[in-house]
Amino acid sequence: MNIASLSLAEKSAPRYTSYPTAPHFTGSIDARITREWLANLPGQAHLSLYLHVPFCSQICSYCGCHTKALRQDAPLTAYKETLLREIELLAKVTPARRVVHIHWGGGTPSMLGPARLLEIAESLGAHFELDANVEHAIELDPRIVDEPLVEALARAGVTRASLGVQDFNAHVQKAAGREQPFEIVSRSVSLLRAAGIHAINFDLMYGLPRQVVEDVVRTARLAAELAPSRLAVFGYAHVPWFKSHQKMIDASTLAGASERLDQAAAIRDALESEGYEAIGLDHFARPQDPMAVAARKGLLRRNFQGYTVDVADALLPLGVSSIGRLPQGYIANAVDLGGWRRAIEAGEFGTTRGRALTREDVARGEAIERLMCDFAVDYGAIARAHGFDEDMFDDAIPHLSALAEEGLISLDRRRVALTRDGRPFARLAAAAFDAYLHSRAARHSVAV
Ligand code: SF4
Repeated sequence: MNIASLSLAEKSAPRYTSYPTAPHFTGSIDARITREWLANLPGQAHLSLYLHVPFCSQICSYCGCHTKALRQDAPLTAYKETLLREIELLAKVTPARRVVHIHWGGGTPSMLGPARLLEIAESLGAHFELDANVEHAIELDPRIVDEPLVEALARAGVTRASLGVQDFNAHVQKAAGREQPFEIVSRSVSLLRAAGIHAINFDLMYGLPRQVVEDVVRTARLAAELAPSRLAVFGYAHVPWFKSHQKMIDASTLAGASERLDQAAAIRDALESEGYEAIGLDHFARPQDPMAVAARKGLLRRNFQGYTVDVADALLPLGVSSIGRLPQGYIANAVDLGGWRRAIEAGEFGTTRGRALTREDVARGEAIERLMCDFAVDYGAIARAHGFDEDMFDDAIPHLSALAEEGLISLDRRRVALTRDGRPFARLAAAAFDAYLHSRAARHSVAV
C-alpha cells in the first residue's frame, strides 16, 4: 500500500452502527418522548429486543464494551428484577406485540446464570408474542459455558450463540488480558450443539497487542476447524482516553496501520479459503447462513451490534446503556446503573439521550448503510426516493476525492463503489455523507 493510502488508513471514522452516530445524541430525548414514540408504534409492528447485561467475571484489557467486573450474586438478582419491570413497562406502553428478534449482549449476559436467564425469557414470552421463526441470540464467554447453562439457553428458546474467541495464541491472549485455551472454546461449541443450538458465531480480533499475521492466520484456521456458521472479525480499537482499562495495554506492542491492514487481509484470505463468504467490512458466513443469503440479495442491515439480518420495524432497548431505534428516532438508556434503575422503579423509562430523525437524516443514513453493507450506493436515487433533488448529497464529493485519487473508490455520476482494495476504507467513504461529522470534535477509532 502506498503512503497516501496508508495515511488514509490512519484516519479515524465512526463505525456507523447508527446515523446520526451516538456522539450526536442529545438530552432532549427523554422518557416522555420514549413513551410517546412507543405508544405510536402500530399494533402490527415487528419488534426486535436488545437486552444488555453489563457484568463480566473479569475485565479483559482490550474490552470496549459497557461492563464491569462482578463477583457477588445479589447485584445479578437486583438487575434481573429491574429488567422484569422494564419488560412489563414496555409491554404496557406499546401496542406492538410481535417479536422477531431477540439479542442478549453485554458484558456477559450468561453471568445472570440459568435460573435468572430463564425467568427473563419467560417474561418476554408472557408479555410479547414471539414469532415462530424468532432469532434468539446471546453473546457467551466460553470460559463460563457449562451444561446447566446451555440446557437453560435451549429451554429459553435461544437459537444462536456468539462466542468471544478473539485469538487462539497464548502470547496474544496473555498480552490482551484474556487467557482461554482452544479446548475451552471447543468444549463450549460441543455443549451448545449437543443442546440443539447449532447456529454458532465466533468473534475474532486483529490488531491486538503482540499479534502478528501468523497469529491471525493460525486463529482463523483453528476457528474454522470448529465450523461456526458465522464469524465477526473486529480490529482492536485502542481508545484509552475512553476505556481507561486499556491503559494496561502497552501501545508499543500494537500493530501500525499497514500491519493491521495485512492482518485483516490475511484473516479474510484464510477464512475465504475455508469456504466462508466475506460479508460487509468484518463478517464471514457459510454460504447457506442467513447473513450470507441476505448479503447476496442486498438485504444486509446495520444496527448497534454491527451487521444484522434483523428487519424489524423497531428495536426496543432493555437494560442499562441499551440503545433502541424507533421509526421516529433513537432512544438511549442511562449509562449509570443507579440512574436506569431509579427510573424503572419509579415506573418510567430510563431514557437519558437520543435523537429524533429528520427526513434528511433518514436518507443520509440509508446512503451510509448501503455503502457499509454493499460497498456501493446510488446516492442520487436514494435522495430522489426520499423526496429530495438528486444533487442533495453532492456535498459528499469533495470528501470522496482523496479516496478516488488513490483508486479506492469509483464515482460514476452519483454512484459510488468501493474497489476491492478500497473496501477496508468503507467507513471513510460513508463519512463523506455524514452531515454532522465536522460539526463537533468527536474522537473515533482508526477507520481500518
Ligand atoms: S468478556 Fe467481553 S464484555 Fe466482558 S470484559 Fe471481556 S471483552 Fe469485555
